[in-house]
Amino acid sequence: MIVGAGQAGGRAAEALRAAGHRGPLTLLGEERHPPYERPQLSKAILLDDVAAPAFMRPDADWPALGIDLVVGAAAVDGDLGQRRVGLADGREYAFDKLLIATGTRPRRLEPLEEGPLPVLYLRDLDDALVLRCALAPGRRVVLIGGGVIGLEVAAAAVGRGCTVTVVEAAPRLMPHVGSASLSRFMDELHRDRGVAIRCGVTAMGQTSGGVDLSDGSSVAADIVLIGVGVEPALGLARALGLGDGQGIGVDATGATAADGIYAAGDVALQWSRCHGRALRLENWANAQNQAIATARTMAGEAMSYDVPSWFWSDQFDANVQVVGDPGAGEEFVRGDPASGRFAVLSLAGDEIVGGITVNGARDMAVLRRLVAAGKRIALSDWQNPAYDLRQSLKA
Ligand SMILES: Cc1cc2nc3c(=O)[nH]c(=O)nc-3n(C[C@H](O)[C@H](O)[C@H](O)COP(=O)(O)OP(=O)(O)OC[C@H]3O[C@@H](n4cnc5c(N)ncnc54)[C@H](O)[C@@H]3O)c2cc1C
Repeated sequence: MIVGAGQAGGRAAEALRAAGHRGPLTLLGEERHPPYERPQLSKAILLDDVAAPAFMRPDADWPALGIDLVVGAAAVDGDLGQRRVGLADGREYAFDKLLIATGTRPRRLEPLEEGPLPVLYLRDLDDALVLRCALAPGRRVVLIGGGVIGLEVAAAAVGRGCTVTVVEAAPRLMPHVGSASLSRFMDELHRDRGVAIRCGVTAMGQTSGGVDLSDGSSVAADIVLIGVGVEPALGLARALGLGDGQGIGVDATGATAADGIYAAGDVALQWSRCHGRALRLENWANAQNQAIATARTMAGEAMSYDVPSWFWSDQFDANVQVVGDPGAGEEFVRGDPASGRFAVLSLAGDEIVGGITVNGARDMAVLRRLVAAGKRIALSDWQNPAYDLRQSLKA
């Protein structure tokens, strides 16, 4: 059984069948939709009035694969000894093995929710459809949080003719990536497109006039969107006696501390070599690939997942990709950020712990392989624009 019919749950269900699991397979999802791709919710779905959701598979595929997909099914209760989970509506399901892939929920800022302005969050398809309607031309939109979600929504809102302000408590945008070069680039990119950026201030509350900030100023607003990170969805895990506040701890096979119980995707707390600690990786590639590896373990294969974190973000005409943990080392830039295309290498000693590309997908393909293989690259080569990065893979 799999609980959570998102990226990880959907891909794990397919992978279980592909790995030869022939027994019953139930996929429980709290949302009313079958599994779909979440990244487009802050991109194509917002930018394009007629963009349709990207469902993982046509509806008919799930039963054809022998997967009993139950939507609108929130698992709220469970019993490890009796090997069962219970739904909010009282139904019960038995399992032999269980994969928890319940993802995350937006971190709420409750004081900001109180007041006359509509306050939105963006996590699921229904949120995105509401937000798309709200982003009407001329609307003044205040985005709380200058991370990936806030900035992608900022770009989409500008595209829809809104007036946009981003409020970020940290001194710079995309602070969690840990790269001063990337933060500077993002700041310029957004300001050039007309986004007002307020870093180093906190949103305190709202009035009919707008959002009040910690420096005593206020920003006029018609809508507020909060994108200040996420929290793991741990309701079922807690009912089963698993998961601390950080997530559900798993080993490299996806197994939790409880026999026959696994976790995958955003909710799984796993060791990351680049970060040097256990953490939840909140990105599409991890949700898909760690879930597939875990499903294969569940089907009896000896799998071990140790792939550096990688994610992308699209904002205006910039495609940003990040591998590993750029904040863990000293950064060295290749190329000229003013050209709109550059890369960042992050070194701790001579170990590559992270990398970033902006509009440089080919360079990222090399960086991902360098980080994964623990290879080295001479700084003189990295900083030489004539050097073909692919050469470094041969060393
Ligand atoms: C707007 C947006 C844009 C993104 N863009 C990018 C991007 O550009 N690049 C990138 O790398 N990553 C991106 N991500 C992150 C990526 O989509 C996530 O990392 C990925 O979806 C995580 O997959 P998951 O299956 O672990 O969790 P989710 O996709 O969140 O799926 C979990 C599912 O479990 C359900 N669930 C929760 N609790 C229960 C329960 N008790 N019972 C039943 N069901 C339950 C939830 O309703 C949800 O449907 C984006 C995320 C969002 C929200």
